[in-house]
Amino acid sequence: MMFRDKFTDERYKLTDEKKAVALDVLRQRLNRQLQASLEACVRCGICADSCHYYVSNPKPEHVPAYRAEQLRKVYRKLYDGTSRAIPAWTGAADLDQEMVEALVMTAYGSCTMCGRCVLNCPMGVDTRFIVRAARGMLAAMDMTPEGLKATVNVHLEVGNNMGVGEEDYLETVKWMEEELQKEVEDTSAIIPINKKHARVIYTFNPREVKYFPYLIQAAAKIYNAAGEDWTLSTESWDATNYGLFSGDDVASRKIAANLEAAVNHLGAQTLVMAECGHGYRSQRWEAENWLGHSYPFPVVSFVELQAQYIRQGRLKLDPARNTKRVTYHDPCNQARSGGIIEEPRYILRHSVMDFVDMEPHGAENYCCGGGGGMLSMTEFAAERKAAGKAKADQVRATGAEILATSCHNCLDQLDEVKRHYKLKVKVQNLSELVANAIIWEKR
Ligand code: SF4
Ligand code: SF4
Repeated sequence: MMFRDKFTDERYKLTDEKKAVALDVLRQRLNRQLQASLEACVRCGICADSCHYYVSNPKPEHVPAYRAEQLRKVYRKLYDGTSRAIPAWTGAADLDQEMVEALVMTAYGSCTMCGRCVLNCPMGVDTRFIVRAARGMLAAMDMTPEGLKATVNVHLEVGNNMGVGEEDYLETVKWMEEELQKEVEDTSAIIPINKKHARVIYTFNPREVKYFPYLIQAAAKIYNAAGEDWTLSTESWDATNYGLFSGDDVASRKIAANLEAAVNHLGAQTLVMAECGHGYRSQRWEAENWLGHSYPFPVVSFVELQAQYIRQGRLKLDPARNTKRVTYHDPCNQARSGGIIEEPRYILRHSVMDFVDMEPHGAENYCCGGGGGMLSMTEFAAERKAAGKAKADQVRATGAEILATSCHNCLDQLDEVKRHYKLKVKVQNLSELVANAIIWEKR
């Protein structure tokens, strides 16, 4: 079903009440950063080549400035004197039904909030920030696409975004502990649950529990090999926060607060986020703004921790166990928005025989196309796959047989990109490669 067909639904009909709520959200969010981004664009078009949508399919609607322009029109009509008097001069527009539909199609349907255009704008326009403000207005009108809305709601109701019950969670963890003990032939390799005052508390993406339990085994192998004092929590263990993508600050705050409470209740020293790009960004860089206070503990990514273990000589690795050529996809929320760029490369140089970077990479890496909650919005699947062409071309040029990454949204999208563009690569998480290279030593 095309998303445009949904605009006949009552939920997407603009009413006076909804309009008032949306404009109030815009007013509340109109801080200096948003205002500067809404006013500074000089329409130079330099940002066009930054965007994977435009690179994969060059058309005017895929230029970042076009997306931002939708909200800009509404902003001008409300806050710019000339636009209020003569809207036709500046292209200012009312928030009417047509504008609401344009905002849904641009803010949710054709932007992953990857931030690459932000790096390349000479005026410092943050299109990602503008798009999130537009999403916030749409969320307040209950116009978030169904899949993304459901992902946030399930998280709020059940405690994780896939609705995994505590019994299933514990069974899967226990099962992976047994598998690990079999693999390393060592019953001292354990997965502690709800241990008080551990140095590290670890979180998962629920996809690991539901579909990729071997990643739990890989993480547990790394923690045990490093001799870490660690634990999982049953109270709150989901690393994700799709409120970042729905634009709903109230939901984002609740999800972040639940995780904070779980860490505090166990008295853990450090919160470690699973290999999940947006989960890391949410908890490390955004949550304190949503919560209005600083976390009383540091938040680090599992990628940073693995690099630290290697630097400290706590992991004995044999790269000869990973002989195939490996390239690495930088998750946007971890690399560009989180600054974790050197660590994965350091890890791979110690874990595999043949690592090659794709071009561009690091902060300038192209988005895979799966960010921004795009995988949960199935109506935009065709556009998402088409936007993956830039990534497919990058990967193909490396000649790699393994495409590593450290984010579950990226993992899913890259797997689809691989099938869609017939790439001859295996997509793997970074921790799988590390775990495979570990030379196990009994303690
Ligand atoms: S590069 Fe910046 S100033 Fe130029 S069109 Fe894009 S957003 Fe506007
Ligand atoms: S944030 Fe990313 S997806 Fe959105 S317009 Fe900018 S480059 Fe394109």
